[in-house]
This record gives sequence, C-alpha cells and structure tokens, in this order.
Amino acid sequence: MLTIDSMNTYYGNIHALKGIDFDVNDGELVTLIGSNGAGKSTTLLTIAGVLKAASGSKIVFDGHDLTRMSAPQIVKMGVTLCPEGREVFPELSVEDNLRLGAYCRKDKKEIADSFDYVYDLFPRLVERKKQQAGTLSGGEQQMLAIGRALMNKPKLLMLDEPSMGLAPNLVLEIFSLIKEIHKQGTTILLVEQNANMALKIADRCYVLEVGTVKFHGDAKEMQNNDEVRKAYLGSK
Ligand code: ATP
Repeated sequence: MLTIDSMNTYYGNIHALKGIDFDVNDGELVTLIGSNGAGKSTTLLTIAGVLKAASGSKIVFDGHDLTRMSAPQIVKMGVTLCPEGREVFPELSVEDNLRLGAYCRKDKKEIADSFDYVYDLFPRLVERKKQQAGTLSGGEQQMLAIGRALMNKPKLLMLDEPSMGLAPNLVLEIFSLIKEIHKQGTTILLVEQNANMALKIADRCYVLEVGTVKFHGDAKEMQNNDEVRKAYLGSK
C-alpha cells in the first residue's frame, strides 16, 4: 500500500530524515517508535505532503507518487493525518469539526454514514455534538481529532502521538479504540512515545533514531529484542 525509499527531509539546513525506508501493507497496523527528535512526526508530515521530501525520495501510495502531490491531493487519495497535539478547531462545535474532516468528499449519504460510524465509535461525542471543541477534555479532544480523521474514510490513517498528555485510564481507552478501528479494516501508521502499548497492538514496528531506521521487524520480535527493550521499552 505504502512504500517509502530513501526519504530525506530537511528543515532549512537541518537534515531531519536521512534516507528512511519502510513500507505499510494493506490492513496492517505499523508503529514508528523512537526517542524525542528521532524524526517520527517529520516522517508523517512528509508522507502527508505538509513537508516537502527532498529530491530522490520515493513515497508511493497505491501506485501513486505522493512526492508530486499537494497535501489536499494526498488527503483525497485517502491518506489522513491525525496530528500531534490534536489541533481541533476550538471555536467550532464537535459536529462542525467532524464535518471539516470530510471536506474532500461529495457524497452526502457516504458522509452521513461516516458520521454514524464515528458517533458509534465515540458515543461521548454524540452527547457533545453542539459543544465547542475547545471546551472538551483532553481525552475527548483526542477522540474528536481521530473522529475527524475518520470522516475522510481513510485508506491509511496516520496517528501522531494519540496518547500524549492523557491520564492512564484514557491512554488505555484510546489504544483500545485504535485497535478497534484497525480491526474494522483501516490500515494504520501509528507514531507513539508509549512504545510498550504501541507494540502490544501493532503488527510490525520501525524504530527511528536520529533520522534513520535503526531496527524493524515483527512487533512481537521487537518486544523481545534486548537492545530495543533496554533503549526504548524501559526494561532491563
Ligand atoms: P518528538 O517525539 O519529540 O515529537 P519526533 O521523533 O517526532 O520527536 P521530529 O519532531 O520529527 O521528531 O523532529 C526530528 C528532527 O527535526 C529533530 O531534530 C527536530 O529538532 C527537528 N525539527 C522538527 N521540527 C522542526 C522545525 N520546525 N524546524 C527545525 N527543526 C525541526
């Protein structure tokens, strides 16, 4: 579904991604883990077309070269980013935030189906439909941000740090919802600081370190890899 070869990204003179290679197959849940500043968010922003990949980078999704497309064209292809820090529109209602997630879609019936899907998944958002998004709790805002991404009916859903800043019970709830979204057929690329939890729900994992892929493999294999455990999972 997604194949990335020699992806390089710069912020001015800063060489943030130094030739990243990885792929995501249809139906998988793949996680990217790594320390602060490793390049996880930069990877998602480059795939989404928010940041420009340097020439020579290859990002192919369903046979299409994403490096030649604008961010809105990439959204239309069905690649949706749920950004770090949620970025909901605080002044708008929950419902209007969700509607904006479907801005690339035309079919009213399909959009209505997506509303039903999102409200089924997050019943708490139903009760708060008319409420301003800025007045929601952190966990509810995260649900709204994921719901808004789902309103694009993504083929590939990219989630950047969905558990960040949430209380432990909400972290569990968010991970279980991500697992559910995956189970219902959405392919997911998940960036997480909470590597232990991410590996529990992922099929495969890539570990980034200073802009390169340091390890990759089956999620179970990574959980048992001594180097990965010591450096990224906080175990001995
Ligand atoms: P974190 O978990 O802290 O968000 P990350 O793995 O997502 O880390 P990135 O945010 O992708 O890391 O950052 C990768 C590198 O790019 C870091 O060295 C960071 O300092 C640099 N960087 C990120 N954003 C910018 C920016 N807007 N301008 C300059 N450098 C940046």
